[in-house]
Order: sequence, then structure tokens, then C-alpha cells
Amino acid sequence: MPEHGLPPYDDNNIFARILRGEIPCQRVFENEYVLAFHDIAPRAPVHILVIPKGRYVSYADFSQNASPIEITGFTRALGNLAKVLGLEQTGYRLISNMGQDAGQEVPHFHIHLFGGKNLGPLLS
Ligand code: AMP
Repeated sequence: MPEHGLPPYDDNNIFARILRGEIPCQRVFENEYVLAFHDIAPRAPVHILVIPKGRYVSYADFSQNASPIEITGFTRALGNLAKVLGLEQTGYRLISNMGQDAGQEVPHFHIHLFGGKNLGPLLS
């Protein structure tokens, strides 16, 4: 069992297929380290998924195994995206689901960026 307690990275997960260009996405931003695209089933006026380009299943996996430049590139791109979308003014929420208890559907580490309305309580 890998240290993150999740199954090994599945190269056929839907985000891996998006990264390979096999499935289209509504791209918002892309650079060497990160791809950001609109969630297919948005839960808020702004609902963007931000994913690293590397093969990581969880935050633990990403934070332990990605290189410093991948981590910096991902983190800076995410913060910059919130800024250029004007969300620094109105507010936003970042959420990342990991594993069974969080209901992670896609086993490629990703962060949900929500905004564009009052997002209400953290957990319902
Ligand atoms: P999670 O439950 O955190 O793993 O979230 C996975 C998210 O991926 C969900 O919000 C889905 O709506 C979204 N999703 C699944 N397939 C696609 C796709 N092809 N394009 C964009 N978003 C997707």
C-alpha cells in the first residue's frame, strides 16, 4: 500500500485524460506545472478545478513527492488565478477532497476554487 493510503495513480483517470488532450475541458489557465478548467457540474458561479500536471493522487502525495518547483508553480498559479478573476475583492474558497471520507471522485490531486456568491457555511 502506498504511503498516502490511496490506490496507486491511475493513468486513465479523467483528469489524466484531460491533461493528455483525450477529453476536452474549458481551460481557464495553463502553464508548465498546472492546468485550471471549469468544473463540468459547477456548484457556484465560479467553480474551477486546479490540477498539477504531475501524477499525484492526494495532497500528501503532492506535498511529499512533487519537486519544489512543481509545488511553487502550482501554488503561485492558484493564487494568481484567484487574483486575476477578481476574487481577492469578493472572497473565495479552496477545497480539496482526499479519499473516501471526503468523497474524492477523481484520483488526481485537485483543488476546487469557488466564488462569485456568498458560499455559506464550510460544511453542511
Ligand atoms: P472530487 O469529488 O473532489 O474528486 O471532484 C471531482 C470534480 O470533477 C467534480 O466536481 C466533477 O464535477 C468534476 N469533473 C468530473 N469530470 C469532469 C470533466 N470532464 N470536466 C470538468 N470537471 C469534471
